[in-house]
Amino acid sequence: MRPKIRLFVDQPLGAEQSVQLSRDHAHYLFGVMRQSVGVEVALFNGIDGEWRAVVDEAGKRGGSLRCVAQSKTQDVVPDLWLLFAPIKKARTDFIVEKAAEMGVRRILPVQTEFTNAERIRQDRLQAHAVEAAEQCGNTVVAEVAPLRRLDEVLRDWDPSRQIVFCDEAEAGGSSALTGGLATCGAVLIGPEGGFSDGERARLKALDHVTTISLGPRILRADTAAVAALTLWQHGVGDWR
Ligand code: SAH
Repeated sequence: MRPKIRLFVDQPLGAEQSVQLSRDHAHYLFGVMRQSVGVEVALFNGIDGEWRAVVDEAGKRGGSLRCVAQSKTQDVVPDLWLLFAPIKKARTDFIVEKAAEMGVRRILPVQTEFTNAERIRQDRLQAHAVEAAEQCGNTVVAEVAPLRRLDEVLRDWDPSRQIVFCDEAEAGGSSALTGGLATCGAVLIGPEGGFSDGERARLKALDHVTTISLGPRILRADTAAVAALTLWQHGVGDWR
């Protein structure tokens, strides 16, 4: 039977490997979930796949587990990043959670000209990404990068990674996302206020940027992010 509880741990996993629990995990496992010695838990660390582990010691502030067998090999996910302009808290949380569920490798919050948020809580967003992976069975955890200005991100960009620029000005136009996608890519979603003319011009002038429409309707940024990631994964063939 598959263990009901699945935890991300930042420690090596392998046969007979023992894993020390953090205070938070011990509290969750033994306090909240009322588990005790002998129970099996699924562990993953983003590198070594998923392991079944048995609780050896259970305490209020800590505990230890021992890996028994690998239950899943490490997922191979497409090399997709998401660049998005942070919006209101709940919607930003939604974007991070959905992108993490969808197997995005890196989530890069970017500050554009019309972005309202000046700061993000990177640690909180990273925790959301971990939780999303724990809940949906992914062995990969999306990395949440610190907030950076879009112009700086573009300046330092590796041109071998294609950017799919979702431009609301193309809504209703014919620039659908068709084949010819690089297998290493990124999707760019703007804020509620959209992109400025300057940003649009700069992006369109770059060879490694492909401008697309997400259809005839203007979507909210959180919906747009999910739609664009789906299109990219479909285009690259993540669905077998
Ligand atoms: N306030 C803007 C809309 C911003 S929507 C306006 O009224 O024009 C937020 C982001 O979602 C956009 O910057 C874009 O990246 C994406 N988006 C939403 N609908 C889109 C569409 N039909 N085509 C392409 N991108 C879209």
